[in-house]
Amino acid sequence: MNSPQPIHVAIIGGGLCGLALAVALKQRDISFKVYEARSSFTELGAGINIGPNTLEAFRLIDASLGNAYLATAARNPSGKEHVWFDVRLGAAIDGHKDGETITSLMAPPTGSMCIGRDALLQLLAQKAGLLDGPGRVSAAFDKKLTHLEQSASGVTMHFEDGTSEQASAVVACDGIHSAAPAVPQYSEAGVYRAMLPVQELEKVLGHDMARTSQVFPGPKGYLILYPVSDTMMNTGFWVWRRGTWPHREWVLPGRKNKMDDDLRDWGDTVRGIMNLAPNPPFMATHYHAVQPESHWRNRVCLIGDAAHAMPPHAGAGSGQAMEDAYVMAEVFRLVNKIDHTQAEVNAAFSAYEAVRRPRYQSIVETSVESMHTWSDLYDTSITQERLADWTKLAHTRFESIWNHDIGADARNAQAMMREKLKRQTAI
Ligand SMILES: Cc1cc2nc3c(=O)[nH]c(=O)nc-3n(C[C@H](O)[C@H](O)[C@H](O)COP(=O)(O)OP(=O)(O)OC[C@H]3O[C@@H](n4cnc5c(N)ncnc54)[C@H](O)[C@@H]3O)c2cc1C
Repeated sequence: MNSPQPIHVAIIGGGLCGLALAVALKQRDISFKVYEARSSFTELGAGINIGPNTLEAFRLIDASLGNAYLATAARNPSGKEHVWFDVRLGAAIDGHKDGETITSLMAPPTGSMCIGRDALLQLLAQKAGLLDGPGRVSAAFDKKLTHLEQSASGVTMHFEDGTSEQASAVVACDGIHSAAPAVPQYSEAGVYRAMLPVQELEKVLGHDMARTSQVFPGPKGYLILYPVSDTMMNTGFWVWRRGTWPHREWVLPGRKNKMDDDLRDWGDTVRGIMNLAPNPPFMATHYHAVQPESHWRNRVCLIGDAAHAMPPHAGAGSGQAMEDAYVMAEVFRLVNKIDHTQAEVNAAFSAYEAVRRPRYQSIVETSVESMHTWSDLYDTSITQERLADWTKLAHTRFESIWNHDIGADARNAQAMMREKLKRQTAI
């Protein structure tokens, strides 16, 4: 008689997606271990802005995670809590004034919600039980996966430090630089990024606007700013940079001179904001323009940015990673914990992909289109009629991201998985 095969999931990458999956599996009492290439759980960069679907995904992963996020997130000032972004013009045009408000994109119940990336990562690590106590053994650092081998009974993972480990299934959450074959493509756009003190912004925008999330569409680009705390606003000035990206690095430090050129046709409001940024870096964004036929094979599946990195113009990347983590954990719920089969793992990955792929692919497309929405408004004259159409499109586009029944996705995936396993048993 063969010995029982308990399910044990290896999570490659302890970024936002990997740790969200760890929380979700812990909540569902499914054995896992996280392998992270860095020597600690660390997130570089500023804040992560989320909308209603992401908060819902947090709650479904673990209700206490949703509450903890709510308790710490920076939001718009009182009376503006449901505003995702106020949309204002970045330069005077066709009788419209510089800084004129053209619409408010509403996203109840969250509006614009943001916490620092590292704060979110530490919150996830804590909820996954990885920071102290016996749960610490479920995290391994300095473990950069180099390659893996699959067999009928499991997966052997090989790491850069020369060690190997086994798991019954591998979920690769290793981000846009994943060891997986999909190559990220340059999006022909990039961003000058800066964290600006509210105190300084007040001098340019006044008290309320200095604390409120705003987008300024303008000539060949857009500016976005949103609160990451009571005292700091995250700012990004996006521009097209057509053609191929000529540098090896994606981030170029100290680009003030180039930014000043890019700001030439903009109004005083946006110029005043970006002048507060001493010498910002420029980051060229990349994404998965071409997707492989499938994101899973046998006992290995890619999720998060490893599967569907997207340009951040819809603020949706981490939300999709959270939705992935939730649906993945829900299909693993149906895999026998004590003695699983490869057929169960395959049915789980297959059902996960059938449900998730159409959603994340459409959001990759929306994210690409959003750069055009924000940046192409000034390409032709801004009549009242055009502005009305533009506003309607912007509202519809983001609502499809925010208002989605994630719980129904998980139930559909579970139903597909049950059906597949039932058919296999009947054969
Ligand atoms: C400029 C910018 C702004 C953004 N703003 C927002 C926003 O406001 N809201 C939003 O929702 N999204 C935003 N995003 C998208 C968001 O950052 C990503 O979708 C999210 O971080 C993806 O998480 P991940 O865990 O899949 O990947 P990552 O965060 O990239 O994590 C991957 C992890 O895997 C590890 N790793 C890599 N290779 C290996 C290996 N071989 N072995 C072991 N470990 C490995 C890495 O060290 C890392 O810890 C933004 C993105 C950019 C570029």
